[in-house]
Amino acid sequence: MSDPKLSFATRAIHDGQKPDPLTGAVNVPIYLTSTYQQEAIGVNKGHEYARLTNPTRDALEESLCSLEGGTSAHCFGSGMAAITALCTMMKSGDHVVCSDNVYGGTSRLFDKVLVNYGLTFTYVDSSDVEAVRVAIRPETKLVHIETPTNPMMSVTDIRAVADVCHAKGVELSVDNTFLSPYLQRPIELGADIVMHSTTKFLNGHSDGLGGVLICTTPQQAETFRFVQKCTGGILSPFDSYLLLRGVKTLAVRMEQHDANGRVVAEYLSRKLGSDKVFYPGLETHPQHELAKRQQRGFGSMISFELGSLENANRFATRLKLCFLAESLGGVESLMCHPATMTHAALGVEGRQKLGITDGLMRISVGIEDVSDILADLDQAMGS
Ligand SMILES: *Cc1c(COP(=O)(O)O)cnc(C)c1O
Repeated sequence: MSDPKLSFATRAIHDGQKPDPLTGAVNVPIYLTSTYQQEAIGVNKGHEYARLTNPTRDALEESLCSLEGGTSAHCFGSGMAAITALCTMMKSGDHVVCSDNVYGGTSRLFDKVLVNYGLTFTYVDSSDVEAVRVAIRPETKLVHIETPTNPMMSVTDIRAVADVCHAKGVELSVDNTFLSPYLQRPIELGADIVMHSTTKFLNGHSDGLGGVLICTTPQQAETFRFVQKCTGGILSPFDSYLLLRGVKTLAVRMEQHDANGRVVAEYLSRKLGSDKVFYPGLETHPQHELAKRQQRGFGSMISFELGSLENANRFATRLKLCFLAESLGGVESLMCHPATMTHAALGVEGRQKLGITDGLMRISVGIEDVSDILADLDQAMGS
């Protein structure tokens, strides 16, 4: 089990990742099995069927639970499958308060699918704690926030929102995908559940989808274990292995992402003006002090305004090193155009409300040598 005296970088390598008891192999094997032999009726080695448990996935869940400081972790086939599982905590008639600037897929799931099951959703600017308090109703079961938000990088005070939620008997879930537990640990700040698209920084190599819910109570653990079994949207053994492998280097990767992110944000704000660059690490960011307080670093997600769709497209097609692609959090730098990619489903009006213009670009700064990243951005900006 986890030794809380060990530091994060050590736990990322060792927690859940013990040598194989059978052979001594230093990596957790990929257990490719759908079922397990039983010695007699009702007698087994703790495993019955792989939708319920798989040793590779169990190891991963132990690792992620330790890194977020929760009491259990439950892995799913994608980030969206994890959010769907989160919402099975609710019954028809329940209400959710959600950050207005969440991942586009999250609001699409809420507004296009889950409303059909009698759930209702209110979107608020969760960086305004008072707005969260006002939005909570007697039938509210959950407040779901993302911080920093995607793509506007607005920061929410997790501790203040957790206090508001707990005073009203509501649980708080935090989508921690953008920072990873190395840079932000919401449970230490009062969150009840942490969610990740492990597809991003936790995997880190853009080679597999996944999602996780990390819990703080036995009740949540029971619910999500039961949901894994009942709905079946679990993570495969192979993808679990890729994540175990990715997580081992999380600390060093995040240090480099953070260092490169700061340099790229400085460059962009010199080139475009700091009012055109959205990054909590810039002193001009409205929640810079809060970000400094609740995060260990600022990460490598930066959005910036190029003024028009033509400018954005000219820039995007000139890039040589950074790939124009959805997703984020891999070792390679990825450039995204939120209006047509991640936030297309919001429609023009929805995007306007959040300030997502046709000229907005978002970069996930990778861990290439930062001078090569800067040179690519500079040649693509032209003069
Ligand atoms: C990508 C992402 C998701 C969805 O995860 P998938 O693994 O793509 O299903 C949810 N939240 C955030 C913040 C994301 O970046």
